[in-house]
Amino acid sequence: MTALVAEAKSLLSELIRARSCNPPGDEAAPAAVLRNYLRHVGVDCTIHEARAGRANLSARIRGTGDGPSLLLLSHLDTVQADPAEWSVDPWAGLERDGSVWGRGALDLKGQAAAQAVAVASLVREGVHFDGDVVLAATADEERGSELGTRWLLEHRPEVLRADYALTHGAGDRMLLDQRAVYFCANAERANAGLTVTLTAPAGLSMLAGRPNVIAEAARLVSLVAGQHEGDTLLDEVAYVMRALTGTTRSPSEAAAAARKIHPALHTLLHPLTGATLTPAGIASFSAAGAPSVCSIDFECWLLPGQDRDEVEAVFGSAAAGLPHQVTWRPLRGGSRSPMSTPLWQAIETFVVQVDPGALLLPLCDAGFTDSHWLRESNGTVAYGFFPMREMTTLEAARAVHGADERMPLSDLALQVDFYRHVIMSVCAMNAA
Ligand SMILES: [Zn+2]
Repeated sequence: MTALVAEAKSLLSELIRARSCNPPGDEAAPAAVLRNYLRHVGVDCTIHEARAGRANLSARIRGTGDGPSLLLLSHLDTVQADPAEWSVDPWAGLERDGSVWGRGALDLKGQAAAQAVAVASLVREGVHFDGDVVLAATADEERGSELGTRWLLEHRPEVLRADYALTHGAGDRMLLDQRAVYFCANAERANAGLTVTLTAPAGLSMLAGRPNVIAEAARLVSLVAGQHEGDTLLDEVAYVMRALTGTTRSPSEAAAAARKIHPALHTLLHPLTGATLTPAGIASFSAAGAPSVCSIDFECWLLPGQDRDEVEAVFGSAAAGLPHQVTWRPLRGGSRSPMSTPLWQAIETFVVQVDPGALLLPLCDAGFTDSHWLRESNGTVAYGFFPMREMTTLEAARAVHGADERMPLSDLALQVDFYRHVIMSVCAMNAA
């Protein structure tokens, strides 16, 4: 183990021991750990508390101003853990079988540790930067970032300002048809809640032939819940299909081709064939002599740029016969960053260096992350990329928010190298 990996390992263990399950959050504890570590190498940081104990940490290492700035963003809160389901104490930060175990090891204290060690080591080596290097570890990501990234962008807009940003969302190695592939999340879907209200005219309820609003609602839910494949292929999916199969196809053909290549690829790409509708709640009202009303809440996920009319048309045909009304709540997300940037190039050169022959491919996140808020508020080019190769996509998916979450030390080493490479490529281009 190199000295830098040992440093990242002990920082990660300490961050895990500084328990910060959200709710309630308590990000002040891991923020203090990170601040002490950074202070040691002479990196000054600031803690911004949205509320008592809800700490956001930031540090900006000033460059000469001759190059682009880069933000490395992680979060300090974690989800809960039930120790009964774990084979080790989730908050001991133990090293076992070549991994650091504990809640937050993958999501996202490992990233916070790797980013901090990369920055600290370059500062210690006396590297000077053209553009600013910004390190931020925020609060409240697990519950929508209201007291974290979004709070900072609103109340301390200068803190996260950067030309480029790297956060989480993709980056694990997949083996597809014998070819190593890494995805980089450059776009995300948009989310909006909506309510469909069905109305059935007043009438005698004992007459079986009359429309019953609850029965109609049940029929509508079973017709519309799930994935709605559209006609147009999303740019990111078209790119992936061209790279892996040499041809682009319709959304449904792309989903079928992805399934043939690998089930995990299908899991990534299927949500990108169109809108997804998830039933989220239902309420009804019925009184003798009055129309009966049933309201169904849905979570709707749309592709970047997708028109809401397409979803309304789905309800139109499913509600055939009964009067219905669709009410939307505000749309969030749906942003995209271009691929032709020095940051993309830096990620690509790293991937090819550590994994010759590997491909870097764009991904639209099925949900959305803090990248969206950075793009929307500051116009930052933001990607989700956090490289992993030892743990498979499936293993990582099980451990994130699940039991026995752990970070292999070989991946931690890869991540420290990755952030050092990216910082040097983007922020020290002219200095080099
Ligand atoms: Zn999480």
